[in-house]
Amino acid sequence: IGGHPDPKRKDIRPKGVARVIAVGSGKGGVGKSTVSVNLAVALARAGQRVGILDADFYGPSQPRMLGVTGRPGQSPDGRIMPPQAHGLKMMSLGLMVDEKQAVVWRGPMLMGAVQQMLADVDWGELDVLIIDLPPGTGDVQLTLGQQKVLDGAVIVSTPQDVALIDARKAIDMFEKLKVPVMGLVENMSLYICPQCGHEAHLFGHGGVGLEAERLGAPLLAQIPIDLETRLGGDAGTPIAAGETAAAQIYADLAQKLL
Ligand code: ADP
Repeated sequence: IGGHPDPKRKDIRPKGVARVIAVGSGKGGVGKSTVSVNLAVALARAGQRVGILDADFYGPSQPRMLGVTGRPGQSPDGRIMPPQAHGLKMMSLGLMVDEKQAVVWRGPMLMGAVQQMLADVDWGELDVLIIDLPPGTGDVQLTLGQQKVLDGAVIVSTPQDVALIDARKAIDMFEKLKVPVMGLVENMSLYICPQCGHEAHLFGHGGVGLEAERLGAPLLAQIPIDLETRLGGDAGTPIAAGETAAAQIYADLAQKLL
């Protein structure tokens, strides 16, 4: 995996995949990977055949979040077999490189990797492929947008101004690439104290909703800060696979994207 993209390789969209939805953000650390994996699990629980491609090459976290280790296998025709976990097919650069190793690649290497992880992986028949993008507006997003891979994008932001400013840039990029923005997800919107029930808006309040209104795009979900969500991510058991209030939020989000 890696290497320069093949300019002759135009059609990298996997043939058996009905819909490809990217999950993007302006900034890192806002919960884009967490939302990607839990949305994917919730879609699978809603009966969809789902794959998740971890294209966050600089910080591939999906193997950990899904509890997948080891190298993927090969299909009889020499393609990469995506491992399965929690009802999903998944692929990540994190499965191909050492977790402790830094990915020090320029744009062309990343674009080559994204091409391969779409076209050289045996995704089979899927109703939806979720792509966990790198944060920001870089080469991977451009490649996917220009090569007409994406049917839509969901943008994750916290309500904090610095995150929102960058989220706006990501939205602007998708509009320029003519990728429909399906809606916004406000993550870490609220902290509810498990002891006393007190509610605190740690990162501010209402900003993502206002941005959605400005865009005329739906505010798809408001997801509180939740210890179980963080623990589940670290342990490889996504919260959406359980029966908590957070799992219900993801189930509702999935319904909006069916
Ligand atoms: P990004 O993909 O935007 O860099 P991550 O999904 O890796 O962000 O999330 C960053 C950290 O925040 C992770 O440790 C994750 O478990 C945690 N996190 C994300 N969303 C929530 C949430 N709603 N509640 C608690 N922790 C969260």
